[in-house]
Amino acid sequence: VPGVTSVRIALTAERKGRKLIAVASGKGGVGKSTLSANLAIALARGGAKVGLIDADIYGPSQPRLMATEGMRPTSLNQKLEPVPTRFGVPMLSMGHLVKPGQAIAWRGPMAGNALGQLIDAEWGDCELLIIDLPPGTGDVQLSMMTKHKPVGAVIVSTPQDLALIDAVRAIDLFNQSGVPIIGLVENMSGYECPHCGEVSDPFGQGGAQAAAGTMDVPFLGRIPLDIAIRTASDAGDPPAAGNSPQGAAFTAIAAKVAA
Ligand code: ADP
Repeated sequence: VPGVTSVRIALTAERKGRKLIAVASGKGGVGKSTLSANLAIALARGGAKVGLIDADIYGPSQPRLMATEGMRPTSLNQKLEPVPTRFGVPMLSMGHLVKPGQAIAWRGPMAGNALGQLIDAEWGDCELLIIDLPPGTGDVQLSMMTKHKPVGAVIVSTPQDLALIDAVRAIDLFNQSGVPIIGLVENMSGYECPHCGEVSDPFGQGGAQAAAGTMDVPFLGRIPLDIAIRTASDAGDPPAAGNSPQGAAFTAIAAKVAA
């Protein structure tokens, strides 16, 4: 039946047209990996079929965040098979391919090649891949944009000026490559003292929102600096998997990314 055939072809094409969303930051330590993991989990809880790629090949932290440390991906048809997580989000990380603690001293082309293998893995019915990029604007980012064409990028920054200047540089790189900026997230924004309840702003506040306005990119929201986020992440139990207020902050951002 011609109609049925064309539906099948359409579905196959759709599967092949899996969407990639890059999560990037101008510098390290601003919460890019934390956001990537929670974003993937929140989107999966919302019903999307999501996979997670840890392309931060110089400091892969997703195995710890997603509680898959020590797991090894197998291969099928000469392609890597993602490892399952208990959050319903299959994942692949360079951290799964090297021994824990082993330094990865790769040169540009090898790094780009590694990214290609992670993206071109057996992702099954995943319709969306969240890609946790290394910080900065190096070879992996370039190969991401030129070869793999993400549908958009989410940029993470802390409110500080220095982090923001780096974030602007990251945004500029995506702009130059024609990759749309989905929006900017301000992480580590405001700290509520667990003892006295006073709110302080160790890195300032509102900087990323102001910068988003200046650069005319959407502001996706802020996530407070919260010890509960750090402890949950270290324990391999990202807040977006539960029902805490911390998880709700990530879920709200995921809703904007999905929109
Ligand atoms: P990046 O991927 O940008 O290098 P990470 O996501 O690894 O940053 O975060 C760096 C550290 O900061 C981790 O220990 C993480 O648990 C912690 N962290 C990230 N975001 C927050 C937050 N909003 N509140 C508290 N700790 C956070």
